[in-house]
Amino acid sequence: MDKHLPQLFTIATLGSHSALQILKGAKDEGFHTLAVVTPQNERLYKSFAFVDDIIVIARYADFPAIEAELNRRKVILVPHGSFVAYLSPEQHKRMSTPYFGNKAVLDWESDRMRQREWLGRAGLKMPRQFTKAGDIDRPVIVKLYGAQGGKGYLFVKNADDFSRTASHLVRQKYIMQEYIIGVPVYIHYFYSPLNGKLEIMSMDRRYESNVDSLGRIPSSDQEGWDLQPSYVVIGNQPISLRESLLAEAFHMGEAVVRVSREICPDRGLYGAFCLETIVTPEAEFYLMEISARIVAGTNLFIDGSPYSYLNYDEPMSTGRRIAREIKNALLSDSLEMVLDQSSGLHGASSFDDAATVSVVVPGPGVPAN
Ligand code: ATP
Repeated sequence: MDKHLPQLFTIATLGSHSALQILKGAKDEGFHTLAVVTPQNERLYKSFAFVDDIIVIARYADFPAIEAELNRRKVILVPHGSFVAYLSPEQHKRMSTPYFGNKAVLDWESDRMRQREWLGRAGLKMPRQFTKAGDIDRPVIVKLYGAQGGKGYLFVKNADDFSRTASHLVRQKYIMQEYIIGVPVYIHYFYSPLNGKLEIMSMDRRYESNVDSLGRIPSSDQEGWDLQPSYVVIGNQPISLRESLLAEAFHMGEAVVRVSREICPDRGLYGAFCLETIVTPEAEFYLMEISARIVAGTNLFIDGSPYSYLNYDEPMSTGRRIAREIKNALLSDSLEMVLDQSSGLHGASSFDDAATVSVVVPGPGVPAN
């Protein structure tokens, strides 16, 4: 089969979050790689052999300024969590650099109420939400808008406790959510628009300080000590789910993808995403949140996970799976199926150059199953 080689394209991302995994995966799939970094990260990213090129910018928020340069280099951008942290949905949409994923999903993901509507329509169970402190009739977690990694979250036992510990928040935007006691399980999925298949790539649970350490002090010794649980993420631990729960995890992913096509017609959510759940003693999944792209918990699995091993005969990280999808799209002349519709193929010029080069495809480039 004569097709275009991935190496005619550059996969690029911001030097942060899961960039190393994304770029390593891109290199393994035969792409040229580019890290866009700030000065303090330059030496780190340069130190990895799979990073071919570096562009240094003063601040990550300056990223849109290098758009013309990215287009000149035939870049396909792979977004991760830091893109959302540093660029607004509007800035995302203004950029026309080829972008893996559907930007329309950002509007649903970045608004907690719309997220709830999405997950609710998918039939997924969520913690109850309270709008007024006076309505609180059970322990809640108070979440500030824009908080990251659980920072600034407060545990509140009841309405009285709210006025004691959280009343200072009046002028800030926050939500109050029923506190679910259970195991936080973050499930990493990949949905392929090319073959219509959903895969569970891996799973993690987060280790949060101090809430995950309070059990190390007997509750009798905690008495009289004004200890407040906090939820600041310190790291991630791998977890494998009881196999009897796996079907439910898979169905949840399918439901989220199905509803995404109704709310963001007609392509919906595709590529990597994560459902952030808490699993109760009754083995019920409660949905805290959805992340519509690669999450940092996948960094545990750069060499693959027990789940990716079942689908692939080679180490398959989520970053590599993304590059594999782009490669499969190139090999089947379907690149537009994996790129956001704002992606200018710049157009006629840069991507067409590649289309004129015919080469032999190395290997099948498809999942083993
Ligand atoms: P990120 O964006 O990095 O995923 P975040 O700031 O959105 O993090 P969440 O994932 O919403 O934070 O929650 C952080 C932590 O707070 C969770 O890992 C969990 O320990 C705790 N938490 C959140 N919601 C609930 C809930 N309803 N019940 C019990 N614990 C919760």
